[in-house]
Amino acid sequence: MTTHHHFHHEGHAISRAGWLRAAVLGANDGILSTASLIVGVANASTDTRQVLIAGAAGLVAGALSMAAGEYVSVSSQADLERADMDREKAELHADPDGELKELTHIYQRRGLDHDLAAEVAKQLTAHDALGAHARDELGLSKAMRARPAQAAIASAASFASGAIVPVIVTAIVPFQRISVTVMIVSVLLLGLLGALAARTGEAPVARAVLRVMLLGLVAMQLTIGLGRLLGTSL
Ligand SMILES: [Zn+2]
Repeated sequence: MTTHHHFHHEGHAISRAGWLRAAVLGANDGILSTASLIVGVANASTDTRQVLIAGAAGLVAGALSMAAGEYVSVSSQADLERADMDREKAELHADPDGELKELTHIYQRRGLDHDLAAEVAKQLTAHDALGAHARDELGLSKAMRARPAQAAIASAASFASGAIVPVIVTAIVPFQRISVTVMIVSVLLLGLLGALAARTGEAPVARAVLRVMLLGLVAMQLTIGLGRLLGTSL
């Protein structure tokens, strides 16, 4: 549950698909870890209450852990971006001519001839020198700036949106059926989300679905085994 599917930008590849994919993977984590916890506890306990408490605790703990991990990771990303911007600011101050040449080279590399590149660099420098260097040299745009709090909330929300499903199932089915129902619902949902993630990532769908469903089943079987072991021996 501590794999972090980053909600901040990764280079230039950010897109709505990237966000969707991160959300789906977060939901996957939520389903699998909470469902495993629930079937494990269900096989070691005698009534729904205990299972429900464990499931709810797992949901909250998992969401908080995802949020904390994402916050730390995106904060360090933000620190790096800030340091880059500060250095750029200092360079612009110390050596404006050199920075103008640097920008000109960047536009030439992107396909403009020298005169046009020099003119574009001159005008963009006059307009917003730091902005031009941030965007075209560092690859940072305002829309993609790392935002730790938003990333943390998005991460926690996607985990919780997956984790809530096995908790709800636990609350509504009879105690004897918790294990099997949670397992079936969770594996089907994992498959569905796997298909969605594979489609947005343009990966082969069938293989992704099979893999995530199989891994889900294995994880839940392991915790069921552990639950039985502890339930009978304690
Ligand atoms: Zn520069």
